[in-house]
Amino acid sequence: MMNGFMRNKTCGELRASAIGANVQLCGWVDRRRDHGGVIFIDLRDRSGTIQITVDPEQGKDLFGIAESLRNETVLQIHGLVRARPDEAINKKIPTGEIEILAEQIKILNAVTNTLPFSVSIHDDDENIKEELRLKHRYLDLRREKMNNNLKLRHKTVRAARSFLENEGFIEVETPVLTRSTPEGARDYLVPSRVCGGEFFALPQSPQLFKQLLMVGGIERYYQVARCFRDEDLRADRQPEFTQLDIEMSFMEENEIIELNEKLIVSIWKTIKGIDLPTPFPRMTWQEAMDRFGTDRPDTRYDMELVETSDLFSKSGFKVFSNAISSGGCVKCITIEDGNNLISNVRIKPGGDIFSEAQKAGAGGLAFIRVRDHEEVDTIGAIKDNLTTSQIKELILKTNSKPGDLILFGAGPTNIVNRTLDRVRQFVAKDLKIISDNELKTQWNFLWVTDFPMFEFNSDENRLEAIHHPFCAPKPEDIGESESLWKDKLPNSNAQAYDLVLNGLEIGGGSLRIHNSELQKTVLEIIGLSKNEAEEQFGFLIDALSMGAPPHGGIAFGLDRIVMLLSNEDSIRDTIAFPKTQQARCSMAKAPANVANKQLEDLHIASTWIDPD
Ligand code: ASP
Repeated sequence: MMNGFMRNKTCGELRASAIGANVQLCGWVDRRRDHGGVIFIDLRDRSGTIQITVDPEQGKDLFGIAESLRNETVLQIHGLVRARPDEAINKKIPTGEIEILAEQIKILNAVTNTLPFSVSIHDDDENIKEELRLKHRYLDLRREKMNNNLKLRHKTVRAARSFLENEGFIEVETPVLTRSTPEGARDYLVPSRVCGGEFFALPQSPQLFKQLLMVGGIERYYQVARCFRDEDLRADRQPEFTQLDIEMSFMEENEIIELNEKLIVSIWKTIKGIDLPTPFPRMTWQEAMDRFGTDRPDTRYDMELVETSDLFSKSGFKVFSNAISSGGCVKCITIEDGNNLISNVRIKPGGDIFSEAQKAGAGGLAFIRVRDHEEVDTIGAIKDNLTTSQIKELILKTNSKPGDLILFGAGPTNIVNRTLDRVRQFVAKDLKIISDNELKTQWNFLWVTDFPMFEFNSDENRLEAIHHPFCAPKPEDIGESESLWKDKLPNSNAQAYDLVLNGLEIGGGSLRIHNSELQKTVLEIIGLSKNEAEEQFGFLIDALSMGAPPHGGIAFGLDRIVMLLSNEDSIRDTIAFPKTQQARCSMAKAPANVANKQLEDLHIASTWIDPD
């Protein structure tokens, strides 16, 4: 081996132009094949793989080492780059025209344990259990797919940083040990040893600190910020996740939206080489709810919700007319060619589509099959209560054709919306309305704007902020008279916006309240007493009364963005060391028990009783 360095080339970078060169490489044995006297080793490092050929003529010792190699052994190899014979050229890999004739092989580290799964680029990874992958994440990361995902994540962050820095943003770190920030989830708490009986909360987002940075005159801030939310986990949720967090002063809502749109465009250009068309479409929250039943509609396909309450308000079909008379609505979606594609079994009780509706809170799922322009098939009570003119009007209104299936939701508007949204997504997926190819290439961005400031929390019998209680209301909704704010705020919209991509929320933000009186009124509306407001947010209110500039911002879910850019289905595949769905790190075995002494030092005791 040549001394003074470990390697002078990487496995993936060599091409035919290097033929004749002596090179020294390091890497892992991806696989070893014995071919009638000659041994081939695919040597892999981060940059790719290359074939190493070990010829018995090079000596017994060398051949002996090659014969003994197990997969994933770490090697250093010295050898000569040479052309492969024509029949051995492998067009599938970039180094496929050449091979290295090994002259020396040194084992840098042997594999002494059984590998729980194969790392080789040649093996299909789809069947490796995620449990195993997470337990041995260091091996999983060695796999090409995960290695590429982390590289892509890095490039995404780099693209964002470079855009923001060109726009004059500076990165500032905010505390991880802080107090509760209300983003609507449960906090992770950290007991304080020094201040006995008191707890820090890990930030659900840097929201208040970034606002205070604006009061601090920073004007343009960003941070790749770790956020912590103790929530029940779903496929795209993690207890700790990363936001690309941004805040700026002296910008109108529209300016903030446009700037962030440019940021997204530059990320997509860098990562995908795509010029996204701008401006991205925009839709108010109300329109999104009316047309799609959700504030994050997937606009890659139609199947929109159609309001049919007026048509059925006097209907003899009591389920419909009662829903309307008690303040709810009747809406429907039309599934093109649904008569062929979807059987009654699936939409009647017990069927999979019916059960989707049920999971969203619906009591039933009425349906109509359009036969021709005025003939429909129905079952149950709806059948006897439809007049011909209602049918005609329905067909017209839903723009449906013979062969289409119309599914109805009736009841309180929020449940109807939730039901039809869920059914719409389920059916679209089931019928593959978006082809597999489109799934990977279609980028439907949408800004959803004009969110209401509050929604009613019936469990707690109070209004709560839809985003967080620092969003500024639309000035025209509250007017200028301070004395009317309290009355007007509950029905006001916020200067808030979410960025939705293919039905997933990838970012959200707002202009913030920069007037201390207005902030106090909002805190009062969500049910905080004067004392509570002072205790929890006194520092913010003080800051707002000492020359806070108008400001606003946004936070993007970095893990989700990388998931979409890498065509993964789970954010776990975009995070180096994610938690399992039980919110654990199965590799490091965290969380874990701690010694009683540690608890004593922290002035706390566990009340946990092991069920076993
Ligand atoms: N802090 C907000 C969130 O985490 C984002 C923002 O309003 O900028 O959703």
